[in-house]
Amino acid sequence: MATYDDQNIFAKILRGELPCLKVYENDRTFAFLDIMPRSPGHTLVIPRAGARNLLDIREEDFMEVARTTRIIARAAMKAFAADGIIIQQFSEPASGQVVFHLHMHIMPVKEGVPLLPPQTRKEDPKVLEDHAAKLIAALKA
Ligand code: AMP
Repeated sequence: MATYDDQNIFAKILRGELPCLKVYENDRTFAFLDIMPRSPGHTLVIPRAGARNLLDIREEDFMEVARTTRIIARAAMKAFAADGIIIQQFSEPASGQVVFHLHMHIMPVKEGVPLLPPQTRKEDPKVLEDHAAKLIAALKA
């Protein structure tokens, strides 16, 4: 398996070199909206520590990612009036991973509404801003 490369897009977002719609952060993790959401509110949770994916992340860092994933999932249920949540994590290209900094996909779903396929289209930035505001408000409630 290749080693972690800190020039990946999410490492640049963490360092503030690229913009994102942040919804939550703490000392170990960071959460922001996916720019090509598969459902309204599709959010990514990443560790601040460099890890390529589930196969090399330190256990304690993954525990923090799991903790934040649960926080986001619960808030997203409210913010998007969802009926359920899908969590996905891809490790290595064969699985579909395209960005090599570990991330959990958190996708709110409504009954009977299928997810879009991965990376179908870039969402309108105004829509993403609205979704970020809704999720931030639910996280504060
Ligand atoms: P994967 O590596 O297949 O688990 O998925 C990478 C995800 O990152 C995809 O869902 C992309 O839509 C998303 N993505 C790529 N670039 C950005 C970015 N600059 N900001 C937010 N999400 C991104």
